[in-house]
Amino acid sequence: MNKLYIPEPVSGGLLLSYRCTSECKHCMYACSPRWKADWISEEHAEKILTQLADKIQGSPLGSDRIGINYGLHFTGGEPFLNFDLLLKVTEIAHEHKIPSTFVETNCFWCRDDESTRRKLTQLKDAGLHGILISVNPFILEYVPFERTERAVRISKEIFGEGATTYQEFFYYQFKKLNFKDTLSFKEYLQKAGPRSLSYVELLPMGRAPYKLGYLYKKYPAKKFFGESCREELTRDWHVHIDNYGNYMTGYCGGISLGDARNLELIHQIDLDERPIVDALVTDLEKLHDLGKQFGYKQRSEGYVSKCHLCVDIRKHIAQQTDEFEELNPREFYRHLE
Ligand code: SF4
Ligand code: SF4
Repeated sequence: MNKLYIPEPVSGGLLLSYRCTSECKHCMYACSPRWKADWISEEHAEKILTQLADKIQGSPLGSDRIGINYGLHFTGGEPFLNFDLLLKVTEIAHEHKIPSTFVETNCFWCRDDESTRRKLTQLKDAGLHGILISVNPFILEYVPFERTERAVRISKEIFGEGATTYQEFFYYQFKKLNFKDTLSFKEYLQKAGPRSLSYVELLPMGRAPYKLGYLYKKYPAKKFFGESCREELTRDWHVHIDNYGNYMTGYCGGISLGDARNLELIHQIDLDERPIVDALVTDLEKLHDLGKQFGYKQRSEGYVSKCHLCVDIRKHIAQQTDEFEELNPREFYRHLE
């Protein structure tokens, strides 16, 4: 058997669903309001969290402190779209003593002080250790900045050091520029200047190459031939598990290494059963050859990154056939552009 060994996860995120109030240009998991409202069931969340309980490692500063690449976070999509579920999974994680838990949010829901304070207090009382507030020019297109400011102010009151913003640079920049409402990306660039883009920590994968590719230099596919993604696909930190149970590593949306409701089976993958993963851990040229068998044609304008080439081939294959179970969830490939 042609096997791939996947180490046990030490930190990660649970996507409660892919549904989001925003459709950010940089979203790695292609989330949007157009996704079906398929929320993870309590039963499946319990199954997954029970198995993660003895594997997840907390922050070196303590199990009640948070860090982006430590512990377990609840994410999406936008987890606050289903607050009752968010509360429930927090309780389950707390019962299982999972360390360094936090929720990641775009703050769309922070419409007034009272309801913001109430929800955050409920989460803290249920055992959540912190919150990660996303701030960047792409979310600003959808979420009025005054809501983000409110979330930061009240989260600090409730979670103290457990309240963190990512990216902090944009939080202070938006404050300095006195932003209050939403702003299109074009308007943002006019007000903040194109040099601000150098501060964006952008991973050129998922939706970003399609929506922001015009900002970057492009290369022919052959530049990426010879590269393997073994390291990313066998990464044990910051793995993601979605509401369908798909186990994803390396921020690689749309590539399922198996069903996390039975984590033991993911430890050892039969690559003969997953030709796309096999190609990716071998050489991107192999993925390209596989794509060609399904009629894939290279983009004449080129690719911004190896992940652009990878996702573009996978998208094409997913449109032609459903024979590859690792291309999951299928809906991911419909919401990239
Ligand atoms: S980046 Fe976050 S806020 Fe934006 S669409 Fe994706 S999940 Fe939603
Ligand atoms: S090229 Fe594909 S498999 Fe490799 S890191 Fe990028 S998205 Fe993941």
